[in-house]
Amino acid sequence: MSAFVIDGFSIAASVRSRITSEVSLLKEKTGVHACLAVILVGENPASVSYVTGKEKALAETGMIDRSYRLPESTTEDELLGLIKTLNSDDSVHGILVQLPLPGHIDESRVIMSIVPEKDVDGFHPVNVGNMVIERPGFLPCTPRGVLVLLREAGIETKGAHAVVVGRSNIVGKPLSILLARREYNATVTVCHTGTRNLPEMTRQADILIAAAGSPAMITAGMVKPGAAVIDVGVNRVEDPAAKKGFRLCGDVDFGPVSEIASYITPVPRGVGPMTIAMLMENTLQAAKNTAEK
Ligand code: NDP
Repeated sequence: MSAFVIDGFSIAASVRSRITSEVSLLKEKTGVHACLAVILVGENPASVSYVTGKEKALAETGMIDRSYRLPESTTEDELLGLIKTLNSDDSVHGILVQLPLPGHIDESRVIMSIVPEKDVDGFHPVNVGNMVIERPGFLPCTPRGVLVLLREAGIETKGAHAVVVGRSNIVGKPLSILLARREYNATVTVCHTGTRNLPEMTRQADILIAAAGSPAMITAGMVKPGAAVIDVGVNRVEDPAAKKGFRLCGDVDFGPVSEIASYITPVPRGVGPMTIAMLMENTLQAAKNTAEK
């Protein structure tokens, strides 16, 4: 039997549609017009494509798009100077610096320079700390998007064994922390390159989340029959037959795994659109917080 393919694209579209109404209502009632500043340094093709997707979503939801496309040669001081200006600009509610940054810029200094109230990516240590101790703050977009996907697909997390492959600060680590919250109540195992027998771990998963950045590494033999498989990976693999010379591929070997799993997310049109929808959600929240002040 083939797995049910979770349509992240449609779920994200319905989230954006609700956000569009809320953005307009907030503006009408309070005069606050939600605004996100997106900063891109350099021209990394994947980053350009992510930023373009974010700009499209801003336009669709009726938010103000304050985009900055800076040259690769931008210095750390220049970038920090721009963030300082945006931090004190009351008409800007969220600030997003597209990662990765060029090697001469210290990413963690940049992340920490954004005031936590405008850190809609949820990467600032204050927001990370708030997430861990379950205080209000911005949750990182991809983990939040995965949780919404699970909920919308009707996948029960309570009591489930969730195995997360990957422990990055932006995906694996926060997702494993969130899944273990009482409201989701999953039993969580986190795997990484130091995991001794990965297939033995992944085969125990009721919910298997792949966030390793390694094309098709989760094969059918690594999946328990009936598991829900969420593929966060977005990998560019060379494909001479494709127009751009590459195609996008997840961390999951989609065809064979979909024969075994009960639910699966595709790449593209799975987790990716949810990440952008959650960025819009966090920006709307930042604008609401301003309106309340
Ligand atoms: P990182 O490279 O920062 O982290 C990858 C993690 O996976 C690390 O913890 C690493 O372990 C682990 N890992 C890598 N290979 C293996 C392996 N063979 N076995 C076990 N563990 C492994 O990646 P990110 O978390 O930033 O991103 C992961 C993937 O998700 C990428 O493909 C990225 O493009 C995609 N992504 C997608 C998003 C979306 O919106 N859909 C958003 C963000 C990322 P260790 O710590 O030991 O090195």
